[in-house]
Amino acid sequence: EVQTKKYEFKAEVKKLLDILVHSLYSSREIFLRELISNASDALDKVRFEITKGSEVADKELPLEIKIDFDEKKNTITISDTGIGMTRDELITNIGTIAKSGSEEFLKQLSENKEAANNIIGRFGVGFYSVFMVAKEVIIKSKSFRKDEPAVWWKSDGSGDYEIAELNEPLKKGTIIEIHLRDDAKEFADKYRLEGIIKRHSNFISFPIYLKNEKINTIAALWREPKTSIKPEQYNEFYKFLTHDTEDPLEVIHTSVDAPIQFNALLFIPKRSYEFWRWSKDDYGLDLYVRRVLIQHQNKDLLPEYLSFVKGVVDSEDLPLNISRETLQENIIFTKIANSVTMNVLSHLLKVAKDNPERYNDFWREHGRVFKLGYMDFTNADKYQQLLRFNSSASTDEKELISLDDYVSRMKKDQKEIYFALGSGREAIDLNPHLEIFKSKGLEVLYLYDPVDEFVVTSIRKYKDFEFKSVESVDLKSLEKFDDLTESKENFEPLSKDDEKHFDSLLDKMKKILGDRIKEVIESKRLKDSPSCLINADNSISSTMRKILKMSNT
Ligand code: ADP
Ligand code: MG
Repeated sequence: EVQTKKYEFKAEVKKLLDILVHSLYSSREIFLRELISNASDALDKVRFEITKGSEVADKELPLEIKIDFDEKKNTITISDTGIGMTRDELITNIGTIAKSGSEEFLKQLSENKEAANNIIGRFGVGFYSVFMVAKEVIIKSKSFRKDEPAVWWKSDGSGDYEIAELNEPLKKGTIIEIHLRDDAKEFADKYRLEGIIKRHSNFISFPIYLKNEKINTIAALWREPKTSIKPEQYNEFYKFLTHDTEDPLEVIHTSVDAPIQFNALLFIPKRSYEFWRWSKDDYGLDLYVRRVLIQHQNKDLLPEYLSFVKGVVDSEDLPLNISRETLQENIIFTKIANSVTMNVLSHLLKVAKDNPERYNDFWREHGRVFKLGYMDFTNADKYQQLLRFNSSASTDEKELISLDDYVSRMKKDQKEIYFALGSGREAIDLNPHLEIFKSKGLEVLYLYDPVDEFVVTSIRKYKDFEFKSVESVDLKSLEKFDDLTESKENFEPLSKDDEKHFDSLLDKMKKILGDRIKEVIESKRLKDSPSCLINADNSISSTMRKILKMSNT
């Protein structure tokens, strides 16, 4: 008899199990996608060990995934010849959720039950999704490390699991045996399983056999010539890669031959899923070297402000046994990264030029992340051309203009790009500082997002034109522009008597306001409003002050 030992799941695992089992009925079939993806990860890992030259047990076994079922016993079995797990690895990998944002993610999921189905389909929920269909799961696993014994694991998903040493010989890899719940018997069926595999796992790069018949098309799509690929194939691959239910907004497929050789297949999603990330690290491109996955979600191929881009980069020139730690210092890698970044920016510029509507769609979804690229000095030119704002010349809050649009409409002798900050178009329209710009017909950029102010103050100028807040602009610099609305009556000089009264009025205001202000002066900038607050030169804007104040308290 083998000695078994009981363990309890961690609290967050219990919570996830509860949500999965009770609220996600309509996406149950993704359990198979999750198990196949784990098998594929395990195969990637063992292939990586083999190419590194590590000692690997049962090296001669083909790298593959096998799926079997028994409609009488209501069981499904998924086996792989991957890296396997030791007893300790089973406990740490399967007994806990490693993802750093999982706590928060779970909280959001449980607060938003309707969205849950959709979201769970989009995100990898992992191994536990098996309990949507299983009343009992048995794992048998043998690590690729030669001296490690095979282990056995069993759970009904209700709170604890058992582990024992396996007393039968097992080759490297993992076998997962699912005993289906009574309401999930439909899954022990050839056509059902085949359909699910084709729908969710068609692009897995190892063969998947269902009762010894190969089901998936193994194609490294990114290595195929562009002309031979149909749009549907790109869309299908994108959905496989991201679990998105919609087609991508943009496909960027590039094949570079010199000076370094690589293929990249990148996508821009239609929607931003910022809010629904598992964790803040949940982004990056998959890096392959000659079809071997070297790193999932590599974060250095693209700068963070392009983190909405999904996809695959496959290099011909990097050494297969390169360690993840030394990648960043590798000159070939750096060149690839620069080239990939350039490609994405050039593609966006092309969209902006050829299809402004589509570009605006892109901007509305991903602009908030993209804007954070103001520190990318290398690509400053392209970055600045890709920025979009609303402006006083726009007809409504939705309209977007580029800095080039602004410059093309500038007045003769205008040397500055004016901007105003505010929570929305209405608020800015009411800002008395804008009156003089309106009356002189000077266009003003309307910045609604607090980040916008960091953008314009960091890049400082576009071409030769400095950004200038309407609140801190030097009025003298506006004198050269004709006032389009000015009429003599408005400026009838004050009588001696009135002037005296006016001076004492200013004095009085100054006394009342005391320390809170620096000065009260007569204004030439106002047209309709009686008074406004202005910044002493070079001081920070009122929005920036609000932000600083908020972060201080
Ligand atoms: P994720 O795949 O996102 O890490 P999962 O819940 O799907 O999360 O899996 C948890 C962990 O369990 C994996 O990271 C891996 O270490 C381990 N694991 C799961 N399935 C296998 C398998 N078939 N072979 C080896 N390890 C596995
Ligand atoms: Mg997984």
